[in-house]
Amino acid sequence: MPKFVYDFTEGNKDLKDLLGGKGANLAEMTNLGLPVPPGFTITTDACRVYLEQGQEPPELREQVTQYLDALEVKMGKKLGQADGPLLVSVRSGAKFSMPGMMDTVLNIGLNDESVLGLATQADNERFAWDSYRRLIQMFGKTVLDVDGELFEHALDEAKAAKGTHNDLDLGADDLRGLVEAFKVIVEKEAGRTFPQDPREQMDLAIRAVFESWNGDRAKLYRRQERIPNDLGTAVNVCSMVFGNLGMDSGTGVAFTRDPASGQTGVYGDYLQNAQGEDVVAGIRNTVPLQELEHIDEASYAQLTGIMSTLEEHYRDLCDIEFTIERGKLWMLQTRVGKRTAAAAFRIAVQLVDEGRISPDEAVQRVNGAQLAQLMFPRFDENAKAEKIAKGMNASPGAASGKAVFDSYTAVKWSRSGERVILIRRETNPDDLNGMIAAQGILTSRGGKTSHAAVVARGMGKTCVCGAETLDVDTKRRRMIAPNGVVVEEGDVISIDGTSGAVYLGEVPVVASPVVEYFEGRLGADSPSADDLVRAVHRIMTWSDERRRLYVRANADTAEDAARARRFGAQGIGLCRTEHMFLGERRALVERLILAEDDAEREAALAELLPMQRDDFVAIFTAMGGLPVTVRLLDPPLHEFLPDITELSVRVAVAEARGETSEGDLRLLQAVHKMHEANPMLGLRGVRLGLVISGLFIMQVRAVAEAAAQVAKAGGVARVEIMVPLVGAVQELEIIREEAQGVLDEVKSRTGADIRALIGTMIELPRAALTAGQIAEAAQFFSFGTNDLTQTTWGFSRDDVEGAFFSAYLDRGIFGVSPFETIDRDGVGKLVRIAAEEGRRTRPELKLGVCGEHGGDPESVHFFEEVGLDYVSCSPFRVPVARLEAARAAI
Ligand code: PEP
Ligand code: MG
Repeated sequence: MPKFVYDFTEGNKDLKDLLGGKGANLAEMTNLGLPVPPGFTITTDACRVYLEQGQEPPELREQVTQYLDALEVKMGKKLGQADGPLLVSVRSGAKFSMPGMMDTVLNIGLNDESVLGLATQADNERFAWDSYRRLIQMFGKTVLDVDGELFEHALDEAKAAKGTHNDLDLGADDLRGLVEAFKVIVEKEAGRTFPQDPREQMDLAIRAVFESWNGDRAKLYRRQERIPNDLGTAVNVCSMVFGNLGMDSGTGVAFTRDPASGQTGVYGDYLQNAQGEDVVAGIRNTVPLQELEHIDEASYAQLTGIMSTLEEHYRDLCDIEFTIERGKLWMLQTRVGKRTAAAAFRIAVQLVDEGRISPDEAVQRVNGAQLAQLMFPRFDENAKAEKIAKGMNASPGAASGKAVFDSYTAVKWSRSGERVILIRRETNPDDLNGMIAAQGILTSRGGKTSHAAVVARGMGKTCVCGAETLDVDTKRRRMIAPNGVVVEEGDVISIDGTSGAVYLGEVPVVASPVVEYFEGRLGADSPSADDLVRAVHRIMTWSDERRRLYVRANADTAEDAARARRFGAQGIGLCRTEHMFLGERRALVERLILAEDDAEREAALAELLPMQRDDFVAIFTAMGGLPVTVRLLDPPLHEFLPDITELSVRVAVAEARGETSEGDLRLLQAVHKMHEANPMLGLRGVRLGLVISGLFIMQVRAVAEAAAQVAKAGGVARVEIMVPLVGAVQELEIIREEAQGVLDEVKSRTGADIRALIGTMIELPRAALTAGQIAEAAQFFSFGTNDLTQTTWGFSRDDVEGAFFSAYLDRGIFGVSPFETIDRDGVGKLVRIAAEEGRRTRPELKLGVCGEHGGDPESVHFFEEVGLDYVSCSPFRVPVARLEAARAAI
């Protein structure tokens, strides 16, 4: 019989797939002998069965009964019994943390009778009724789908009747009245009474948690975080402990190091006389965890002891949720904590220095996305900016944008191209859309562990939270700063997630110190480098020692080439020569295209030649002997001609005025002649070289002469001439022969030692499928995965993103654009086939990739798997690729 339920004593931290992160870690803590309230976990397998079949697996009920019986024996009381009931929480917990995205129901087991028993047991009538009304409210909203506002409304009315705004002013009688009111709401809205049978409450709550896996919020979050849709969630049933039994009780969140900066120490928030949800929801302001030492010294000492145990055990930063019930500490959750990018780098090297992890592990503890974040610019400290408030530095970064006060506006404005800052008193999971759309998030309430902070950190989005001096009025869509400044919707503000500062207006930005380091302007051992730069330096050094893949850059100018080298590129994997045909050279290209005879064409080519040669000399010199892949002209030629509509209008207007220009007429004719319905599938790439005689030859000559010039000057140029958009070996053979002829001619004429390879891009499915043949004529392959994705899927790479991708993403056809991350199953398979077949023909065949995927972390891992020799990406992504290549190799 499949096992669907595990007691906390049966699991361990490595069973996250089955028990979810929360369940696995509760089990781990239980087995470490830490004070965890007893309970059990229902597996993700059970959830998956439920989601597939629309009903619980038949064995589940019996197994839950068995584990509940055992729990009742352990606790010495029965679920919901009339005198002193056992109460449980039913919580979701997937493999990957999805804060607040799925459901939780607390206080299961309370009903009209057991509430009285709880009142006696806890010696606190108010508490018992408050717990009961929370149950009906949470159960009504999450299990029975009742609009949560209705309960909030009734609560507000009860407070108004009492003349207060504070929940705590409501007494036992008021809360008893509220329970009745809530029951009426449930009956009216859900068409059924609130279930009095504790077991029915539990079963329904378990089902609701299963279903919340497919709630809109959860789906959106998974898409954002690239969490697979088919994992399902586990469900944790845990005996309740109460942090809201009085001032000797409370609840909190702790981190074993600062998740924002990575510094060591005790970090966290504590809230007296409260339940866990109150902290994460950011509804009431917490105190720093250190204060607990004065509030309850014994619990504080025990907690800090447990924190060291957990760090020691997990060998990483842990975050912890705990509750103190009348002076007794309980651990409700732990996990390896989320952290900012800067904290991740600092902590990884700290742990190496503390002897807890190896450099290999340190490289695995950070990732390319985090490194990319550290390279974002920050606010210029010397800029004159009006600071209007300071909150907590919840998630770093520098963000400016127009103030918006609700999620809907954030999404709407950002869709029309505006940058926005989402300002809320506090956020809740319903704000997720707006948080994704915004440049940054600002809240006036809640600590570093509030919803806004946790979610923003997870997304790598700038966030300042708990800026208490700001009076945020979401109804009137404005915020008032203590100095009287009023920020209305649409006014620009800037927030600094590293310092917590909030500024009026746009603040200028400066390069990040990490970029300064990569640029070579800030040495890792210079006194002005901080520990973050040193951490990055050490991780990059370890990465370079460990990676197998070479990393090159896509660069078309000497400046880009030089930057790429500073960033650690080991060559240029793609120099797009079309960029050398723009600007004032466009006129020459026009002449080339319009040439009516060989003489005119040759004249135009002869003028282009020295310009191209100079470009190459500069690039080869900047690369100082590292390989440079020069791609012959690729795009359809009409891209260099005027727009057909504009030109037609110009000619028509001129004709109407009787001022017809011969030149314009000829141009229009040519533009018409070259017009193609599908230019991306038309006269481009190698086809240009075959049709426009002399074009590729001129380019190869420019390359060869530039290489000779560099060699003469005492340098070395290692060039790789690359032919684009080849689909058949015959195309390549013709171009190769011509190119080889030019190389030989320049070699013998100049006597220079020109080192050149001739190869091709693989960017058409036919090329991939006939790679064995193509390798006969190619010394290297470079996968052009942009075009290969375009032609494999049949998606126009220029149009697709706006047209229907969002529908594809929504409907789960793919979780991320295949233009961003390589589609392993389709495009990736072609890459694999081409690599294997190519190498079969020519074992020394050099293999690389120069499409955008070359700098995408996930894709880099794929290219490592396939055994390519190098990846090539934009200069700014070179460090990211270096790091990911190492992570893939370890
Ligand atoms: C490609 O197609 O992947 C490629 C690198 O070429 P381009 O983007 O210039 O078409
Ligand atoms: Mg291409």
